[in-house]
Order: sequence, then structure tokens, then C-alpha cells
Amino acid sequence: MSFELNQEGEELLHKIRDFFERTNIEKELLESNSEKFPWHIRQEAGKLNLIGLDVNKADGGMGVSALTMGYIYHECGKISVNTRELFGAGHGRLIAQYGSLEQKKKYLPPLLKGDLLVGVGLTEPDCGSDLAATETTAERVGSNYILRGIKQWVSRVEESGIFIVFAQTKPGSGVKGLTPFIVEMDNPNIEKFLIEPMGMKGWSYGGFKLHDVVIPVENRLGEEGEGFKIFNEHFTYWRVLMGIICLGAAQKAIEQAIEYAQNRFAFGGPIGRFQSVMHKISDHATLIEAARLLCFKALDLIDKGKPDVKESAMAKWLGTTVAYHAIDDAMQIHGARGYVREYGLEQRLRDVRGLMIADGTTDTLKSLIGRELLGKEIYNHMLGRVREPKSVNV
Ligand SMILES: Cc1cc2nc3c(=O)[nH]c(=O)nc-3n(C[C@H](O)[C@H](O)[C@H](O)COP(=O)(O)OP(=O)(O)OC[C@H]3O[C@@H](n4cnc5c(N)ncnc54)[C@H](O)[C@@H]3O)c2cc1C
Repeated sequence: MSFELNQEGEELLHKIRDFFERTNIEKELLESNSEKFPWHIRQEAGKLNLIGLDVNKADGGMGVSALTMGYIYHECGKISVNTRELFGAGHGRLIAQYGSLEQKKKYLPPLLKGDLLVGVGLTEPDCGSDLAATETTAERVGSNYILRGIKQWVSRVEESGIFIVFAQTKPGSGVKGLTPFIVEMDNPNIEKFLIEPMGMKGWSYGGFKLHDVVIPVENRLGEEGEGFKIFNEHFTYWRVLMGIICLGAAQKAIEQAIEYAQNRFAFGGPIGRFQSVMHKISDHATLIEAARLLCFKALDLIDKGKPDVKESAMAKWLGTTVAYHAIDDAMQIHGARGYVREYGLEQRLRDVRGLMIADGTTDTLKSLIGRELLGKEIYNHMLGRVREPKSVNV
């Protein structure tokens, strides 16, 4: 199994590195007190069609492979996890993949130009991992839907022109009634609010209340009840990108730690000679490599038309977890210097920590892996869905 980039992918990666160098974005982000991601850089990426990377050519994008996107997100992670909205359509890919012709015509051009950002609204005050508990409703009234509910703990509340809001069209039916809607955020019946997060400050964070928000039927994404299928397909891809962007962040941290261990002297020699330092570096370099390969495998399966929920869940939990511990130890190796902003390690740690929760917590992903390995019956039993209490052939 080879996960090498083809020539086209190599050229693209070169272009991405060039873009980072030319815009000097790493330095700008490191020196920014707010850590906010500069919008104009995204527009510059739009001009080069780099937002359309993972959108089909027929829809105005570049149609690059999932594997190539993995390499690009890894490169992004080296700069900052906050660059995750720079290249590729992000959650706007939901429209590119599942949107009607009219929806694509309306929303893809501004998205690809870098003028529109798309948020995703799944989480609510009483619903996170358990999407069956979604309380936001969408009531069909003639040729409209009326949306009512609260979405909370969501990213890009301020910057997103539209949100893909997942709502219940058949309250009481769990995930079977889940339906996504394209909601334009300038609606006067939407009340936004902000929450201060620990990390991932490049983009705003918070929520919004939907007070009888009327949206036309044409803004429904897919058919009623298709939300869970759409969610699963999209996140099987997106989760891996989040895993690998964290690995990029960790790779950079370990490279910094190596340089530091070679040049910082204590007790008459470089600190890298201490086994406690050397082995930390060896452990993390090995684990990062292993986790990266798992991410590449999950992305390669997507390219081969065999997306696998289990492989993607493994890739995200291993990617984020390995990255977190690597950055934590890189910080330790830097001593006092690791604990200040200047070296960028504390920010990487805060950012990666967020991705151990967002887009599927580490533990829910382990439960998903367990479901695929042990079977749905045992998984359902774990969730309290009844099962006959008897052993089978043991
Ligand atoms: C930085 C950040 C950005 C985010 N951005 C967005 C966004 O843009 N859009 C959006 O909709 N949401 C977003 N979220 C929300 C995120 O997706 C949810 O926080 C996450 O799905 C978990 O939901 P919860 O917080 O309600 O925790 P809960 O679901 O209440 O879980 C609490 C704890 O119980 C554990 N748990 C729950 N169920 C299981 C299970 N089946 N097996 C094992 N353990 C379980 C969890 O692992 C966790 O430790 C973001 C969160 C963060 C931190």
C-alpha cells in the first residue's frame, strides 16, 4: 500500500508551501494577540481556486483526491490549526456534495471566491454526541419550513454567511428525522451569541437561537430524514482531515523540540543526550508517523470509493491524541520557554485539545470503532437500548 502523492499532488503541495511563505501567515498568526485568522488571506486563497480544492471540477473546483487533501491539511497544521478554513470547501463541501443545482449555483461561487464561509450547526445545549436527541425542529408550512431551537458550542458563528443546520423534521423519531437546512445567517430572527474558548481562537465560537426562522423548501439539503446519512458521509472525510491537521501541528512541535534539544545545554552538554529527552522525541516521531499513515489509509479508502467509518474514527482519535501528547512533551523539553506564547507550543496544545472534542469526541469515536468490531447489538446495549439477557454459544 503506497500513499505517495502523484506529480499533480506534489505540485499542489509546493503551491501551498509557496502560499504560506508569500503571505507570511505563520508569523502573523504567532504574533497576533487575538489569534484571529485574517479573512483577506482566505480571499487570496480563493483567487487561486484553493478553496475549491475538494470540490468537483464540474462545480468549479479542482477535484483533488482526499489523500492530497490529507497532505495539504498536514502542511496547514504545521502553520496553525486555525488554517483549517483556508484551503478546501470545509463544511461548504456539504453543498458541493449534496446540494441541488440551484443551491450550488447560488452558494458555490461566493464560497469558492473566499467571500462566504459555511458553518455546521449540530450541537445544542442538550445534544452533542447523541444526535438522536436533537431538539431543533423544522416544521413544514406550505412551501417553507419554520426552524426553532438553539445551536451551541459551534465554530465560526460570526464569520459564516450560512450554516448547515441539522433539525428534526419528524420530532420523536431520533436520527431518522434529522434533516439539514441551508440557513442564511443574516435572518433577523437569528440571535447569535459568543463563547470564549480555550483554543482554536482563529475563528469565533458560540451559538445562535432560531426564533421561528422561516426558510424556503429549496434550502433543504437532500430529502427529509437524510441528515444522519449525510452527516456520516461528510464526517468520515472531515474527521480524518482534523486528525491529520493536528499531526501537522505535532510534527512542527517535534521539529522545534529536536532543534532545541540539540542546542540547549545543561550540565555541560546538549539536553538531547538525556534519555528522558531523546526517548520522548523518538517516541513521538514514531507515533506521529504511525498515526499519519492511518490517516492516509482512511483517506485512500475514500478515494477508492470505500469510505470506512471505523478507519476514519481510528484516524481521528489516534491523530489528535498522538498530536496532543507530542506537543505536550515538546513543551516539556523546552522548559520555561515552552510555556510562553513566543514559541507557539502552548497555542498548538490548546488548539489540538479542542479537536479531541469537536467533530466527535475521542470516546464517542472509540464507541463507534467498538460498534464496528463488536456489532450493533452490543453497541445498542451500551446505549441502553434493550437486549435479551442471555449468552450465545459461550
Ligand atoms: C473547539 C470546538 C469546536 C466545535 N465546533 C462545532 C461546530 O462547528 N458545530 C457543531 O455542531 N458542534 C461543534 N462543536 C461541538 C462538538 O461537536 C461537541 O462538543 C461534541 O460532539 C460533544 O458533544 P457534547 O459537548 O455535548 O458532549 P457530550 O455528548 O455530552 O459528551 C460528554 C462526555 O461523554 C462522552 N460520551 C458521550 N457519548 C458517548 C459514547 N457513546 N461513548 C463514549 N463516550 C461518550 C463524551 O466522550 C464526553 O467525554 C465544537 C466543539 C469544540 C470543543
